[in-house]
Amino acid sequence: MIFPLKFGLSNAYLIIEERAILVDTGATGDANRIRKALSQHGIVETDLALIIHTHGHGDHVGSTADLRRSSGAPVAIHPDDLDMLTSGRNRQLNTPTRLEARLLAPFINTPFAPCQADILLESEVHLGDYGVDGQVLFTPGHTHGSITILLKNSEAIAGDICMGGTLGGRLHPAEPEWHYYYEDLTQAKESLQKLKNAKVRKLFVGHGGPLRFEAVYQKLLVK
Ligand SMILES: [Zn+2]
Ligand SMILES: [Zn+2]
Repeated sequence: MIFPLKFGLSNAYLIIEERAILVDTGATGDANRIRKALSQHGIVETDLALIIHTHGHGDHVGSTADLRRSSGAPVAIHPDDLDMLTSGRNRQLNTPTRLEARLLAPFINTPFAPCQADILLESEVHLGDYGVDGQVLFTPGHTHGSITILLKNSEAIAGDICMGGTLGGRLHPAEPEWHYYYEDLTQAKESLQKLKNAKVRKLFVGHGGPLRFEAVYQKLLVK
């Protein structure tokens, strides 16, 4: 089951099945909120099976170094986004898709504590070894190393492939919108088609949401 953790800048997620996996770690300073969520679910931090990242932007990996140190959980990321995690800096964000993005850029571009990765997601692995019946799918576009985690119940966590609502998801969070930045928008559209083919039903995203996948498909791909 997926439990959203809503922070000031972004959402992280806990997946709790046989074991618990943390998907993204929020921005700098969100580690204690994650620890609190873990304890609310009766999970001891050192029992966390894995910290996996939808992509390498600072609002999603900002507390990873802190949590890796205290939990000892292995940290996983796609190799194409590793440079951001290990340098503590986002790659240059290209032309924003919406004006609103210019207001958010200073927050998104704040440097964060760099962190090593323990696992490079070189292929679309199954997460059974970490106690979760879920599959990693490569869904590049927002960044080259963006991934989606698809669970058996057809719910998926897809990072910033798109977002819900405006003002970072504060308004109309269930309304599908493109994210502000894409390293390759054409590729992002192909990735959404890939999720359609995989029969995703509900999409959990990095900002706002969750979204009905059919609504995402109709608004962002069919239109
Ligand atoms: Zn991002
Ligand atoms: Zn984000």
